[in-house]
Amino acid sequence: MIIAIDGPSGAGKSTLGKMLAKKLNLLYLDTGAMYRAVALAVDRAAVPHRDIDRIEYIAETAKIELIGEPDNLRVILNGDDVTAEIRTLEIAQSASIVSTISEVRRIMVDHQRAIGESAPNGCVLEGRDIGSVVFPKADIKFFLTAKPEARARRRFTEDKARGRISTYEQTLAEINERDERDVSREDSPLTIADDAVVIDTSELDLDEVFEQMVVVLQKVKPAARVI
Ligand code: C5P
Repeated sequence: MIIAIDGPSGAGKSTLGKMLAKKLNLLYLDTGAMYRAVALAVDRAAVPHRDIDRIEYIAETAKIELIGEPDNLRVILNGDDVTAEIRTLEIAQSASIVSTISEVRRIMVDHQRAIGESAPNGCVLEGRDIGSVVFPKADIKFFLTAKPEARARRRFTEDKARGRISTYEQTLAEINERDERDVSREDSPLTIADDAVVIDTSELDLDEVFEQMVVVLQKVKPAARVI
C-alpha cells in the first residue's frame, strides 16, 4: 500500500505521516529530508546555488539513507548522521532552492520510488509531489493544508523548542517564501492531485486530523490492517 501525503510546510504532514505509518505498520519516508540532505551536501562542499552541474553531481553521488522507526528516524549523509543539522532554517531555504533543479528531482524521485516499492507492507511518503509525480497511482492521496498564519505559528513553536531564536513574523515570511518557490517552480510544483483528499488543518488538532484520515483510509481500503 502506498499512501501519499502532500502539502505546504507546517501543515502537519510529518507528524500525521508518522502516526499513520505506525498505525498501519508501514514504512515512513520523509522526502523533504532527502532534499535537505542534498542541500547540506551542497553547502558542505561550498558549491554556489547557481552551479547546477556540480549540484547535480552531488545529488547523484551523495549516499542518503533514512533509517530507524518513524519516531526516531535518522538521516545519514555519506555515513554521517545529519538528522539535526538538516533542520536549520538555512538548510530549509537551501533545500527549497536545490529542489527546483530537474535533475536533482529525477534522482530523488527514482530513489523514493525504489524505497516505496521495496517496502514489505507499503509506505507512507510525505512531500510536495508524491501524489502528482512520485506515485501518481498511490492507493490514497492526502493533501494537508492550513492558513499560512496557522502553519507559521506551528513552525515557530517547533523552532523555539529546538532553540532557534526568531520571531513569528520572520517565520511567516520564510514560510511564504518557500511556498511561493514550491508552487511556482517549473518541475513538479506543489499541486493538489485530482484524486487527493484535501484536509484543512488550520482549526483542527492532530488527533482530529488523524481521525479524518483513518475514516478516509477505511473507506478506500476496508481491508487495511490497522494495529
Ligand atoms: O518538507 P520539508 O520542509 O522538509 O522540505 C524541504 C524542502 O524540500 C521544501 O521546501 C521543498 O522545496 C522541497 N521538497 C520538494 N519535494 C518534496 C519534498 C520537499 O520539493 N517531495
